[in-house]
Amino acid sequence: MAAYNPGVIDPIELNADLHCHSDVSDGTLSPEGVAARAHANGVQLWSLTDHDEVGGQQRALRAARELGLPYLSGVEVSVTFAGKTVHIVGLGFDIEDAALREGLAATRGGRGQRAHEMAQALAEAGIENAYEGALRYVGNPELISRTHFARFLVDSGVCANTPEVFRHYLADGKPGFVPHRWAALADAVGWIRGAGGMAVIAHPGRYNFSPNEEHAFVGEFKALGGEGVEVVTGSHRPDEYPKYAAMALEFGLYASRGSDFHSPDESHTDLGTLPLLPGKLIPVWELLAERVHMP
Ligand code: AMP
Ligand code: MN
Ligand code: MN
Ligand code: MN
Repeated sequence: MAAYNPGVIDPIELNADLHCHSDVSDGTLSPEGVAARAHANGVQLWSLTDHDEVGGQQRALRAARELGLPYLSGVEVSVTFAGKTVHIVGLGFDIEDAALREGLAATRGGRGQRAHEMAQALAEAGIENAYEGALRYVGNPELISRTHFARFLVDSGVCANTPEVFRHYLADGKPGFVPHRWAALADAVGWIRGAGGMAVIAHPGRYNFSPNEEHAFVGEFKALGGEGVEVVTGSHRPDEYPKYAAMALEFGLYASRGSDFHSPDESHTDLGTLPLLPGKLIPVWELLAERVHMP
């Protein structure tokens, strides 16, 4: 594989989008559709990071190649750490790696049962047939997620939009929330690293950790071999970027950038439209240059 060389520009100025979803998890576009949109929006290095699933990677890679778009393999692993759900993005791994695939399959495994329990909880809150309703939006039967329930609740008129569904029904502590045990942090980082990839903390601003908990989480992640953190993400407000830039510098982590795009109708941040990474940071793609699939 040819080493990736972004060429004329300073690497920090690259329009990389290394976090987004297709209908192989909880996005609404196909992997090919996400690729076309990333390309049309001027993305120069792309990764599709579906939740707990690499089933879309071959299609994403093929579509990127046809569009002339450099590509890094990607995944977003659901993890339970200190009783909270956190997300770890993997980038630049071998998509055929057996241990990674088995680990992801085990992580996906509880989703069906959880979805039935969510539907039961929603029924007790007065919303009937939510399992069947959510299933209509699911592209991959192994990947039924809260997002699919949210689409059902919006389209059936219960709520006006997906953030409202989460606020009223699906966030931790709300009537339709069912606690779930995801992968262990050590396992998620281990699967990604074992497959030759880089583990990156996804949207660290979303976890409601206290400062002490956050420090423990990032310290443990780093001790396990985690190497990156998302600094500029569609899941952070712009005023949060400096805090996570400082985190990257404090912990010696590479910085990543990604829209977390799910759907043209729902996502407030489109592919490839985020500000660039702040200066002084080292982007993850500097370390991953050898792992980029060139068109
Ligand atoms: P799950 O993996 O089934 O727990 O679903 C998590 C997904 O729900 C995330 O990946 C987001 O796509 C979506 N999500 C979580 N919180 C919110 C929110 N407050 N507003 C909109 N979508 C959300
Ligand atoms: Mn999602
Ligand atoms: Mn996430
Ligand atoms: Mn995501």
